[in-house]
Amino acid sequence: MTYQYWNPEYEQMPRRELEAWQLARLRETVARSLRTPFYQKRLGEAGIREPEDLRSLEDLRRVPFTTKQDLREGFPYGFLAIPREEVVRLHASSGTTGIPTTVYFSRGDLARWSGFVARCIYGTGCTREDVFQNMITYGLFTGGLGFHAGAEEVGMLVIPSGAGNTTRQFRLMRDFGTTVVHATPSFLLHVEAKMREEGIRRDALRLRKAFAGAEPYSEDTRRRIEELLAIDVYNSYGLSEMNGPGVAFECQRKNGLHLWEDGYIAEIIDPHTLEPVADGGRGELVLTILCREAAPILRYRTRDLTGFYPDPCPCGRTHRRLYRITGRSDDMLIINGVNVFPSQIEEVIMAMKEVGNNYLIEIEKDGVLDRLTVKTEVGPATFRDDTRPLNALKEKIRHTLQASITINPRVELHESGSLPVSEGKAVRVVDKRPRDV
Ligand code: AMP
Ligand code: ZN
Repeated sequence: MTYQYWNPEYEQMPRRELEAWQLARLRETVARSLRTPFYQKRLGEAGIREPEDLRSLEDLRRVPFTTKQDLREGFPYGFLAIPREEVVRLHASSGTTGIPTTVYFSRGDLARWSGFVARCIYGTGCTREDVFQNMITYGLFTGGLGFHAGAEEVGMLVIPSGAGNTTRQFRLMRDFGTTVVHATPSFLLHVEAKMREEGIRRDALRLRKAFAGAEPYSEDTRRRIEELLAIDVYNSYGLSEMNGPGVAFECQRKNGLHLWEDGYIAEIIDPHTLEPVADGGRGELVLTILCREAAPILRYRTRDLTGFYPDPCPCGRTHRRLYRITGRSDDMLIINGVNVFPSQIEEVIMAMKEVGNNYLIEIEKDGVLDRLTVKTEVGPATFRDDTRPLNALKEKIRHTLQASITINPRVELHESGSLPVSEGKAVRVVDKRPRDV
């Protein structure tokens, strides 16, 4: 395999140089953050009054964590480190977990950000020959404009189609010969199902790659999309607090996401004890952004559960690779006392060929007990007069789920296309249990 690098000198920088670069950028970032009301106080309390107080990268551990709650409390300008007139853009988190949080960019920040996204895109083998259809929400969400700018920087022809409207997406793909798309994995599955429904032949399209991110998905889901659409799917990870897309991305090996360590310092902590996890272990990802002057954020608790591959990638990049993010330290479901991650359920049902592309997990109270219902879609062929195959499939799903999560779920089968589809992040879990106050 031949690899192409957008910034070879940075992507292949020897680790020692990379760490020296990180320490220099960290000090600049601390100097800037000391100009924000929030960090002046927070760092002051930790005895950090000037950047030189951090003598090594290990000293970063003296800096307290920053949480989403902190960002909300600092709303709107508590994290701004440059004069308001120098800010040229703001973005806000989609608010998956509540009130949105806002981040700011200077002109230089935008240039650095699109540079990282361009690096991700180019690293999958894309070139200016490609036609790129950005099938993700534009607007306050960072995925739209973030990818848009990065793809333009690579020199691809960019179609800013936005999310939704599959019929129009297909028309654009056919009219302009789209070769690469960006979308959530759930939207890609939806696109594929629609293609079959509308009788669009795969060879009528020139599609060869997709970037999929913004929500967790399993390796089985990736494989399913790749097989159904006959394309390569690359995992894309980012979060608005850390700019958005362009934080970590898969290279042509499709085996772990290179986290760009010249732009971010990553730590893995135990979400309960908040202590660092030993090398190679899994835990919660904590990130410090080194590439943004307008709104520096130090040691941000992402809540995303992952870890680092212990070995270097054969592609030659020196930046460490994250495991696929399996969920968040705060999306764990407790069902009748059993801990369940939605991703475990997805893994089971997506590995079954008979199961369609959309599913929904519902939890409600049934007397004193919790009841878990897993609703999945099945292909039209399964819905015939004879209900025996349906019942057999239901039983198989129930049985396999129970073996995996130790809970006996109710299984409902729905016709393909009948479960709700969201244009943004998929809503996969509906928790109807009354909350303790
Ligand atoms: P937002 O700030 O709205 O962009 O949401 C960021 C969050 O989306 C992250 O903290 C993750 O929980 C989730 N996310 C983004 N990309 C991925 C991915 N490739 N895999 C799993 N989760 C992701
Ligand atoms: Zn690699």
